[in-house]
Amino acid sequence: MIYIITGPSGVGKNTIINELSNHINIHFSVSHTTREKRQGEVDGKDYFFVSEEEFKNLIDKNFFIEFEQYGDAFYGTGKDQIKNKKEVILLDLEVNGATKLLKQYPHFIGIFIDIDNDSLKERLKIRGHDNSFIQERMKLANLQREKKHLYNFNIKNVDLNTSVKEIIDIIYDLEER
Ligand code: 5GP
Repeated sequence: MIYIITGPSGVGKNTIINELSNHINIHFSVSHTTREKRQGEVDGKDYFFVSEEEFKNLIDKNFFIEFEQYGDAFYGTGKDQIKNKKEVILLDLEVNGATKLLKQYPHFIGIFIDIDNDSLKERLKIRGHDNSFIQERMKLANLQREKKHLYNFNIKNVDLNTSVKEIIDIIYDLEER
């Protein structure tokens, strides 16, 4: 079973996914990206960090099941990430790539995570973004929300533990069938 988790940037998707890894045996797909490695990130674990040239070579070789440009960087999921895995597979994707993949593979399970606008604004502020960036992200979030109905599950991230439990329940419930 393959799960795609998505949602507007700032809704707490990363924290939820990190916490999930403490509770459930899952293969977290490792994407390729052209963005700079952030402090604490490990090549091959958080991402495969590659140059734009390497990324374009991989596109030409038909290596990716999907890829997108997000901000200044490219992000892509290698086909090898979803093949021959014993565990449940989880992909963490931005909304465009996630929605395209879900349309292409309707048997994948889509989970859309969101929060209300005030909380989103607050979280982006805490991350240190300026007002114009926050306005852009809020606009983008509203566009991304238009895709929400295409997802099998919508989760409102009010409380981390509740959201994590909801996702675990979804996975256990579907895996038992
Ligand atoms: P970040 O740069 O903060 O790690 O990730 C930025 C966005 O890219 C996040 O929303 C993340 O889910 C998304 N992302 C990570 N890997 C992939 C991928 O392989 N494909 C797509 N479409 N989005 C990705």
